[in-house]
Amino acid sequence: TTYTAAPDRYESSTFRRAGKSGLDLPAFSFGLWQKFGTDYPFQTQREIILHAFDLGITHFDNADRYGPPHRAAQQNFGKVLASDLAPHRDEIVLSTKAGNPIGPSPYLKGGSRKTLLNSLEHSLRDLGTDYVDIFYHHRPDETTPIEETVAALAAAVQQGKALYVGISNYPTDQAHRIADLLAAAGVPLLVHQPRYSIFDRTIERNGLLDLAESDGFGLVVYSPLAQGLLTDKYLETIPDGARAVNSTFLSPDVITDTYRSRAAELNKLAEARGQSLAQLALQWVLRRPAVTSALVGASSTAQLDHNVRALDFAPLTDAELAIIDEHGVD
Ligand code: NDP
Repeated sequence: TTYTAAPDRYESSTFRRAGKSGLDLPAFSFGLWQKFGTDYPFQTQREIILHAFDLGITHFDNADRYGPPHRAAQQNFGKVLASDLAPHRDEIVLSTKAGNPIGPSPYLKGGSRKTLLNSLEHSLRDLGTDYVDIFYHHRPDETTPIEETVAALAAAVQQGKALYVGISNYPTDQAHRIADLLAAAGVPLLVHQPRYSIFDRTIERNGLLDLAESDGFGLVVYSPLAQGLLTDKYLETIPDGARAVNSTFLSPDVITDTYRSRAAELNKLAEARGQSLAQLALQWVLRRPAVTSALVGASSTAQLDHNVRALDFAPLTDAELAIIDEHGVD
């Protein structure tokens, strides 16, 4: 079937400015980490990607690593770009990442110029595009001089292969240092991609939220639903096909009685507010002005339809935030 983008896709979508840059990102970005490899039907993947675009989700997050196997998610996205989204390339922010190991070779991991620029070149081929919008260093590498990583990121932009650069999983001090070095290199840090959810408050404690504001970069926060733990799906059972059953990244062992009682309390609060736990969890990360975008995954179009409505509810009150703290923190 031929794809025609929904004409009303910008009417209800919300955009937020990434730090002190000129770039807006959608409040919800879509990530292809899981179920976009060879493990899930391509037609379903295509349907989800196109549905995301129809909902005003203009930002698609990828990495050389995503699959399985590694690289498959970018190849699959590349197919959808070629067959359906090519006319909209200018309306899409594509991200990729390099440096998280994708093989035993020393050139398939780390932060060297060799690793980063080879990976980017390969990702461009897989995605079938001349440039990505954001090129990330996927995680810090203490064994490579940070200057080399900075020079490689800057080269990606100077060569026209990336429009902006980002970092992911960097601790606060290294994030500040690389932001300084990138600014001096004329390629300001656009965004940092950390994990953030009701169940993982690290960036509130380690100063990253504050640093984002003072250094002027945006935050694209991943796993805001804690991979599905912050939805109602695991309250009673572990449904067939859910990530806790079929992914190596989410063990069913985390579905403990303690988890269930915490999730049930949060679910009760969400219900009292007339929303779902998933919507509460997404609204919670986006209540922070420093958070530019909540980076979600989905295994169906229905999940996406549901999740993007998270901003349609009354702001969280201090009393509600206190209840979330009581049940959200170990
Ligand atoms: P989420 O926390 O949003 O989890 C998404 C998963 O939760 C879905 O795939 C689905 O899994 C389940 N889900 C979503 N909505 C619902 C719903 N309404 N009801 C029930 N279940 C639901 O994010 P991810 O962990 O997927 O991470 C998002 C993106 O962040 C990744 O794709 C990737 O781009 C990025 N990321 C980056 C990392 C990094 O190191 N930089 C690390 C991890 C992620 P299912 O239906 O299969 O159970």
